[in-house]
Amino acid sequence: METSTEGASRPDSSPAAAADPPVTAGPAAATADTAVVTGAPATPPASLSPSRASDFMQCPLLYRFRVIDRLPEKPSEAATRGTLVHAVLERLFDAPPAERTAPRAKALVPGQWDRLRESRPEVAELFADDPEGERLARWLAEAERLVERWFTLEDPSRLEPAERELFVEAELDSGLRLRGIIDRVDVAPTGEVRIVDYKTGKAPRPEYAEGALFQMKFYALVIWRLKRVVPRRLQLVYLGSGDVLTYDPVPADLERVERKLLALWDAIRTATETGDWRPRPTKLCGWCDHQAHCPEFGGTPPPYPLPVRAADSGGAQQGRMGPD
Ligand code: SF4
Repeated sequence: METSTEGASRPDSSPAAAADPPVTAGPAAATADTAVVTGAPATPPASLSPSRASDFMQCPLLYRFRVIDRLPEKPSEAATRGTLVHAVLERLFDAPPAERTAPRAKALVPGQWDRLRESRPEVAELFADDPEGERLARWLAEAERLVERWFTLEDPSRLEPAERELFVEAELDSGLRLRGIIDRVDVAPTGEVRIVDYKTGKAPRPEYAEGALFQMKFYALVIWRLKRVVPRRLQLVYLGSGDVLTYDPVPADLERVERKLLALWDAIRTATETGDWRPRPTKLCGWCDHQAHCPEFGGTPPPYPLPVRAADSGGAQQGRMGPD
């Protein structure tokens, strides 16, 4: 997720989000969260990804629109550029270490853009009104700048990732499954694990770092549950501002995230059963594709497609959700 200075985030532009990308109007991309695939309404599966958890924390009604109603969303330039940049950074590691240079990485941009258009034809709509290709050229140049900035933050010639674009999934004792895609996993000779995520947005202000780290702690919890190893370091690489945010988690951090996710899932289940999905307007509504269906903007949600029971305290719980 790209992080804004408002302490919350606009739609994710990473493949972790591509792992469960914003719902798109075109053919669904491969996803770690099948619940976001556009189509017939569905009961949420007993699984959470960081993006869908963040959706519910941001606005329960947004979660409903994405997971249950599966309303389509238009691709955005920022999110699509994020996907493109991530693809370039991943592919660069195919080259021998000495050849992992900035010029080579930038040279990968056009080819990866072609591949992205092939796999997700709907992204071409972004530039349908740009017959001269000027806006596309600027957009690609910005992608190249983001790629180039990475070399001021990390040296890929000295890195040998254990995993790239790693799909992870773990089941908690409660039966809730946690899933997602981690951009990069580094493992030191000593066995210490570092989880790395690239962001094409800017680093958050320090007071909002906890929200930014939520996704990383989520992944750390999954790794801990899967491998019985607490990652030594969580690292967010902000290509938009040229910052690196790190955090060294301890088991208590991850236990806290697990409790948080279980409470979140309880609230989601209650809302699913009662049909009581509260809108929670914030500045992020500006990024929401569903204002036409949102009561906060004079819209009406589609008829609720699932059976309901009488509402209880679930709505009050929805209002307290947050990343920390
Ligand atoms: S417009 Fe805002 S309040 Fe309405 S569904 Fe979207 S995020 Fe929620």
